[in-house]
Amino acid sequence: MGISERVTAIKGIGNKKAESLKKLSIEKIEDFLCFYPREYQDRRDTANIKDISAGKAFLIKARVLLIVNNNRYYAKKQVLRLLVADESDSLEVVFFNAKYLVNSFKQDADYFFYGKIATDNGKKQMIHPEFFSPGAGHEKGIIPIYHLTSGITQLEMRKWQKQALTFAYEVVEYMPADIIERHKLCGIRYALENIHFPDDPQKLKEARFRLIFDELFLLQTGLLAVKSSHGPAKKGIQFLKSADVGGYISQLPYGLTRAQERVVGEIMDDMESPRPMNRLVQGDVGCGKTVVAEIALYKAYMSGYQGVLMAPTEILASQHYNNLKKSFEPFGVRVSFLSGNLGLKEKKEALLSLAEGNTNILVGTHAIIQKDVEFKNLGLVITDEQHRFGVNQRALLAGKGKSPDVIVMSATPIPRTLAMILYGDLDISVIDELPPGRQKIITRAVGKSRRESSYEFIRKEVEAGKQAYVVTPLIDDSEAIDVRSAESVYKDLTRRFKEFNVALLHGEMKQSEKDEIMKMFYDGEIDVLVSTVIIEVGINVQNATVMLIENAERFGLAQLHQLRGRVGRGSESSYCILITESGAKLAAERAETMVKTSDGFIIAEKDLELRGPGEFFGTKQHGIPDFKIANLIKHIGILEVVREEARRLIELDKELSMPEHAVIKERIQKQLCVL
Ligand code: ADP
Ligand code: MG
Repeated sequence: MGISERVTAIKGIGNKKAESLKKLSIEKIEDFLCFYPREYQDRRDTANIKDISAGKAFLIKARVLLIVNNNRYYAKKQVLRLLVADESDSLEVVFFNAKYLVNSFKQDADYFFYGKIATDNGKKQMIHPEFFSPGAGHEKGIIPIYHLTSGITQLEMRKWQKQALTFAYEVVEYMPADIIERHKLCGIRYALENIHFPDDPQKLKEARFRLIFDELFLLQTGLLAVKSSHGPAKKGIQFLKSADVGGYISQLPYGLTRAQERVVGEIMDDMESPRPMNRLVQGDVGCGKTVVAEIALYKAYMSGYQGVLMAPTEILASQHYNNLKKSFEPFGVRVSFLSGNLGLKEKKEALLSLAEGNTNILVGTHAIIQKDVEFKNLGLVITDEQHRFGVNQRALLAGKGKSPDVIVMSATPIPRTLAMILYGDLDISVIDELPPGRQKIITRAVGKSRRESSYEFIRKEVEAGKQAYVVTPLIDDSEAIDVRSAESVYKDLTRRFKEFNVALLHGEMKQSEKDEIMKMFYDGEIDVLVSTVIIEVGINVQNATVMLIENAERFGLAQLHQLRGRVGRGSESSYCILITESGAKLAAERAETMVKTSDGFIIAEKDLELRGPGEFFGTKQHGIPDFKIANLIKHIGILEVVREEARRLIELDKELSMPEHAVIKERIQKQLCVL
């Protein structure tokens, strides 16, 4: 029997239990070991009843003086009360719905009780404690409490964990000795034993630290390894100092904000240095990242290189294309467009023009990273809304040139911790200032009873010459009940707003139709645009002042923030109305956050806290797992240390091919599915 055997090898686990364990992702014995407790109960010492206080849990040893089986109510709601006492005092112990417990206690017998103390009219009570007869099953010590699934009890889980731990000796220490030394880490076996059954709080602390360290270290090392395996060579392009962008900037219709100026400066320095640039430009929605990209692309063009700008959606890509064409044409810069929706002939032309160097700047969707796309001399690569792309896509795009400079832009403000992980190898520039004159977007969260008046509010705005978005989570009614679909809202609004132009936009429409509708919305020919979240990122229509979101409870916070960022892009007052259907706590908490703050970084952190990193980014796409024990907000200090170590390791052994790193590599593969 060994650690990689199936759980059924453990006594007491049959096929049925194994089925339940599978729901917890425990299939092999080793899976038990990394299924960590969610909390602990300190049952080392018994307390005297006179010393216990409300709000906390205690272990007491007491004699049952009185058993009151209170079934005056209907039988199901049976309440069982015990009066128990030790030498110091007496206490009431209460069990609700406890018909099955009626015969568990004998008068005048002693029991251990472990449970939380509450007060009822000033009287202390222990509510629904765990209990054991002395000698039979009282586990002393710090007791682990696990997440469970139906069909498994805490007791069983503990018993199996103990058995699984007898195989811990098979776990090989994989952390390099110097790292263990530098950070005073405990050994991996010690960590596993003490995370499950710690002897004392100090050992638990050591174990936790080690396991948090490991989790972050493996993730960070894995991501760095992926990057370095595609990564750019040491020597990059040195763009011309003489290719001055000052003239270009001075003809813009507005002056740059100080933050934009600073970031442009950082980018220019990077471009003029021979080191390949790898820079993340972060900034909240509407801070003006596009123009920064534009300036960098112009610099590349002036230095005789091609540049590329990749966006995650067709709509956003064509917005950028139209934008750049307009800005660049007067300067003789040739911009072309590439997406999966081009006709065969157009595509061929675009590819040819690119390969021959007739195209200076290419804008498009991820169609750009396909094999048949070749540049003549690609010098600058920019991805917009980077968080929408997978870990490898940026590297693939960069691979189209010889060590081109790389800028990634992200408007979903990524909490700094996550940015460090996802972009561990990047320099970070932050545009932390909005262009002047922006008004705060007035946000209201309302129930569906206010839908009527919200629509009437839209009417007022449109009558004043403004435009509005109405966003719904679903396209049609087939997918879920209780949700306002785009199609039904569209029908409703066309009837209601007979005098306005209402249009529908969703992801399943033909590209040409989508383009047409977006163009009409840009041109002000559409007053109210009913849409699914495909308009979430990047879209910029300054005349739109209302964003109404139906079933707001169905969207994540970062998403709501992005949606809200579609308005308030000009100098007019703008409004965001969140209509929520359900009274769920999470929904209320999200809505409140949205109303309270407009700072994308705070919102992103909250989102991360509420949903975990997996959902935040979409686990599959990014290869970022949900953590078992690390917490990106709480453990930023450890993360910073880990990042250094991961860097050092990858510098030493780029592909983790040294034999002493084989186990690390294996672990990373298991955790990340990326290598
Ligand atoms: P994001 O950072 O969300 O991508 P955009 O680049 O789309 O934002 O810019 C939002 C709007 O702000 C655009 O209409 C853009 O023209 C405008 N803008 C950008 N920089 C400035 C500035 N310095 N002053 C005034 N308006 C600006
Ligand atoms: Mg943008």
